[in-house]
Amino acid sequence: MSEPLLLEVRDVSVTFDGFRAINGLNLSLRPGEMRAIVGPNGAGKTTMMDIITGKTRPDTGIVRFRGQDLTRLDEPTIARLGIGRKFQKPTVFEALTVRENILLSLKGIRSPFAVLLARLSGQERDRVDELLEIIRLTRFADHQAGDMSHGQKQWLEIGMLLGQEPELLLVDEPVAGMTDAETMATAELLREINRTRSVVVVEHDMDFVRALGVKVTVLHEGSVLAEGALDEVSAEPRVIEVYLGR
Ligand code: ADP
Ligand code: MG
Repeated sequence: MSEPLLLEVRDVSVTFDGFRAINGLNLSLRPGEMRAIVGPNGAGKTTMMDIITGKTRPDTGIVRFRGQDLTRLDEPTIARLGIGRKFQKPTVFEALTVRENILLSLKGIRSPFAVLLARLSGQERDRVDELLEIIRLTRFADHQAGDMSHGQKQWLEIGMLLGQEPELLLVDEPVAGMTDAETMATAELLREINRTRSVVVVEHDMDFVRALGVKVTVLHEGSVLAEGALDEVSAEPRVIEVYLGR
């Protein structure tokens, strides 16, 4: 018997004011898999994430997570089922410290007041330390989040996402605006995260996608143009045509 899928997008379409942004889209993710999604601007990558997370409802088609249909559920319900999303722009609490940001994100945290008064259980403290380590910000734990670099803020937000303990992470263009070193560190970070969680990452940066070393799905005009190893898909004439323009 074949393994059940973690995420299944089947024949999904969505139209905005007569424009078909997603057009018969199909995508399958196995449990534990990390997938990179590439494609030119306007291909529908962000809209695809909007549909998975319940922000946008598809006109037709189905989205299943662990076999459960998501298309009638709202965003908070889908998040509670175990799908976490990171948007392109970091949205950390700038006036709080890095540690406080992580604390506030913890799943099941009793109250924000407990966080700010530092009345935490040992377990909560341990989880925060672990997350700070994963996102490489242990040294900056007591610095104000607003003082972090753009790249560090992105990592902090990934840490805050992990604090929610999602089974599947959706990450939209995490390395935009990062230095080359930060970009490579982010690839390493996502690979680490992928040891215990599934990941769908949208990214333009091909050095980054190469460093991830995972299966790539190329989107174009709202549907899948190609799928496979990066070297395979980037050698396909129709992919080259879309990327080099006509
Ligand atoms: P990508 O993330 O691949 O660059 P998007 O998913 O953001 O592409 O957009 C796909 C297409 O859908 C674009 O042409 C965009 O203008 C359009 N689009 C996305 N969201 C909306 C919306 N809420 N209303 C109208 N058009 C939209
Ligand atoms: Mg986008």
